[in-house]
Amino acid sequence: MKSLRALLLAAVVASPAFGAVQMPATSYLEGLSWLGHASFRWSRAGKTVYLDPWKLSSEPHDADLVLIGHPHFDHLDPADIAKVSGPKTEVVTVAECAAKLKEAGFSGAVRVVKPGDRVEVKGISVEVVPAYNTDKDFHLKERGWAGFIVELDGVRLYHAGDTDFIPEMKELKTDVALLPVSGTYVMTAEQAAEAAKAINPKVAVPMHYGSIIGTAADAERFRELCGSLIVEILEKQ
Ligand SMILES: [Zn+2]
Repeated sequence: MKSLRALLLAAVVASPAFGAVQMPATSYLEGLSWLGHASFRWSRAGKTVYLDPWKLSSEPHDADLVLIGHPHFDHLDPADIAKVSGPKTEVVTVAECAAKLKEAGFSGAVRVVKPGDRVEVKGISVEVVPAYNTDKDFHLKERGWAGFIVELDGVRLYHAGDTDFIPEMKELKTDVALLPVSGTYVMTAEQAAEAAKAINPKVAVPMHYGSIIGTAADAERFRELCGSLIVEILEKQ
């Protein structure tokens, strides 16, 4: 059932005051499932992409593409990557993660990328973007860890990875922005709201809360602080 909120959002985005927007905001989220923390499945136009799959309760083996931005255990889990991998799967990740996957005995296809790269994998375009801390040192810029912009079905989706609000975000073009909001290792809800306003996506989605760090209250606060920007808080699948 479509919620009243979803219908209202659709009406707001379709209104002439917002210019020539063809799609209601919620339709950009079609096929997107939040699997908890920073873990997502996005299936659209016959392609299935996983981002940082972690703590999965099933073994679907249905990924075309798996994107992993950095090697921390809550983002790179070889057992979870194996659960979504099948013969057709390609993993795209940074060198450090590729080495850890090899160490763990992962035998699937892995392509190594770095921030700034643009690659086409199985017909899916992927932009690799920087992700790093500015006021703490859990994710140093020089490690070369990543976020990703993936495009499926003409929709661009940005998974920020573990990051603070960094200047590079101002140049990003995306329809959907998945942004960490927990604070401590990443942006706080307040900083994430500033980042969201700078990125100005059609829809922003809070992530990186509800597992190790951060709570639903952070996601709610993020939504409030985003003001007129559309924010959807996803139910964990
Ligand atoms: Zn991390």
